[in-house]
Parts: sequence; C-alpha cells; structure tokens
Amino acid sequence: MVVIRQTTTGGTPMLSDYEARRPTTYLLKEPRLEPTPIPGCGGCLSICVRRENCRSVGDFSGVSDCNVELREHQDARHCA
Ligand SMILES: [Zn+2]
Repeated sequence: MVVIRQTTTGGTPMLSDYEARRPTTYLLKEPRLEPTPIPGCGGCLSICVRRENCRSVGDFSGVSDCNVELREHQDARHCA
C-alpha cells in the first residue's frame, strides 16, 4: 500500500518517510525441504532417528544440525 501525503502548502504530493524508505520488492523463498533417508542405508537412518529425537524435545537447533549432517552424508555416500 502506498500512502500519498498531500503537503499542507499545496505542493506536489510526497510519500511519507516510512513509505519512501520501505523496500518496493521482497524476495520470498520456500523453506528448503529436509533431506530424506535413502532406503536401506543405516547411516541415513541413524541420522534421521537422531533428528526426530531432537524434534520430539523441541531441540530445533539439533534438527538443523542433523539436516546438515544428513546432507553431507548423502553427498559423500550417495552421490558419485
Ligand atoms: Zn545414507
């Protein structure tokens, strides 16, 4: 929404200071999806179990750490 403020002296309309400084475009992205375990891999399963344990106690930092670890594991073991 753009707010046009008319000057009291009859000059040209001006944007309010807030509106003038506000960014005109925003870049919104979907959050990155969590990596999923590769079927049959014990390493993936172990990390995913730890991730769910962290989530169950509200340790979202731990969840994030497990996601990083799982991505690194999958890059090393499942991408050739
Ligand atoms: Zn794996």
